Amino acid sequence: MEETLRLLYQLQKVDSNLDDVEESKGDLPETVRDLKEEIAELSEKANAKQAFIDEFVASRNNADNDIKDFEEKLKKYKEQQYQVRNNKEYDAITKEIDFAEETMKTLGKQFGDFENQMSIAKNELEEYTLRLNELNEFLTEKAGELAIVSKETEDEELKFNHERKKIVTRLDKEILSRYQKIRSGRGKAVSIIRKQSCSGCGNRVPPQHIMEIRRNDKIYLCQHCGRIVISDELAEKVNAV
Ligand SMILES: [Zn+2]
Repeated sequence: MEETLRLLYQLQKVDSNLDDVEESKGDLPETVRDLKEEIAELSEKANAKQAFIDEFVASRNNADNDIKDFEEKLKKYKEQQYQVRNNKEYDAITKEIDFAEETMKTLGKQFGDFENQMSIAKNELEEYTLRLNELNEFLTEKAGELAIVSKETEDEELKFNHERKKIVTRLDKEILSRYQKIRSGRGKAVSIIRKQSCSGCGNRVPPQHIMEIRRNDKIYLCQHCGRIVISDELAEKVNAV
């Protein structure tokens, strides 16, 4: 168990180093992540808007073609109107003309509606595109800054991650997952007894417990903060290596 406690403390130290490296990057990683998300969302909206516009273009073109067809028909009907031989034929052709004119009016109105909707959609798309350009420019800038900082810390990160891997493979899976759980809630998962208190939360650890902790034979959790508490002697031993 002493070995496990040592490993946990070593892991804590490596994780703290990794935290420091991450912190040295400031809010750049988060900014870059957020920007990428925003860009992805907006691109999706822009694509949907473009699809919407394409559909309207198709509908408008159909309406336009139909109007042209009816114009042709109307021209023919009007020529025929002069060549009718009786009232019956005249009435029939007049009916066709009325229908064609009515239909053209309806189509013309539809055409206008499509044009209107398209121009609204186009304006929206233009706004999206402008914003996307802005965001992409900003992303390039921030990603560039992050790349520079990451390059500087790359060696350190590699070293610490390598150390971490070595420790983790030697730790029991269940204990490791307990460690992770405490770490994700508390930032640091392992604390040391310092002046009869838990170094994590500053609360006193009862003398009886301190004696137990010094035996290094079980995982002791601070009653106040829930961190794994190890003795200062053990910590010193690890630090001395
Ligand atoms: Zn504590």
